[in-house]
Amino acid sequence: MGKGSCLCGVAKLVGHLIDTHCHLNHDGLREEMDAAVQRAQAAGVIHLVVVSYDLASSIEAVAIAEKLTPYASAVVGIHPTMAHTCTRECLHILNELAHNPLVVGIGETGLDLHYPFPPLRTQLEGLHAQLELAGRHNLPVVFHCRDAYGQLLTELRRCPPARGVMHCWAGNTDEAQQSVALGLHLGFGGVTTFKSAVDIQRAAVECPQHRIVLETDAPFLAPVPYRSKQNEPAYIAHTAAHIAKLRGVSPEELAHDCSRNAIELFPRLATTVQAALRA
Ligand SMILES: [Zn+2]
Ligand SMILES: [Zn+2]
Repeated sequence: MGKGSCLCGVAKLVGHLIDTHCHLNHDGLREEMDAAVQRAQAAGVIHLVVVSYDLASSIEAVAIAEKLTPYASAVVGIHPTMAHTCTRECLHILNELAHNPLVVGIGETGLDLHYPFPPLRTQLEGLHAQLELAGRHNLPVVFHCRDAYGQLLTELRRCPPARGVMHCWAGNTDEAQQSVALGLHLGFGGVTTFKSAVDIQRAAVECPQHRIVLETDAPFLAPVPYRSKQNEPAYIAHTAAHIAKLRGVSPEELAHDCSRNAIELFPRLATTVQAALRA
């Protein structure tokens, strides 16, 4: 989709980046939020989606979105490694938060079988409770998946979300195709720029143009040339340039497509991004 015409109704997206997954609500980035946001703006980032991992970070993400509006929005939810804290009371508060129009999605939820705790059964309960919450509010879901693509895809075939993204994509080609067939977007971050990340780079090339979104997962997983330093939203420009080169398109065109896809993934973003572009 070229300049001026756009499925999402947002013109002027060319060259503008949206970080669909960062943690301004996390140690490291929280302390230098204002400076990090300024650097992101200077790097062409027009909007940040602040994603949560437990109840406290969910409440904080909403407060950050309110403080930075129209520059940031929030995704609220409980990370699979924190699934044991996803109690009835916690879900009640998440449900209250989800009424806020600056909350654009539920997550990050999913499955993480890298460590044995919390057990799979607990993680599945957290996942299904949050799928139900997302369905009730008609919100997309941000999925975190580590060493569990087969199990997570099985669950999502049984209970498909209306919209969702597999953030920080790290699966194989077959799993990528299955995710896309389920209607999911794939989120690519700093790891895509690592020399060794051949499978992820292949996925970033093969991902359909309408399903690819960009993210940082800051403060984690900084792209080359900042690898192993603290990541921040401004660095998304390096990931975008790398993926544009892999896909054989200009960085401006890739930014446009990924930002348009981000708005299709998170429909509540449309209003705030338009406001950010006018600001
Ligand atoms: Zn994650
Ligand atoms: Zn994350």
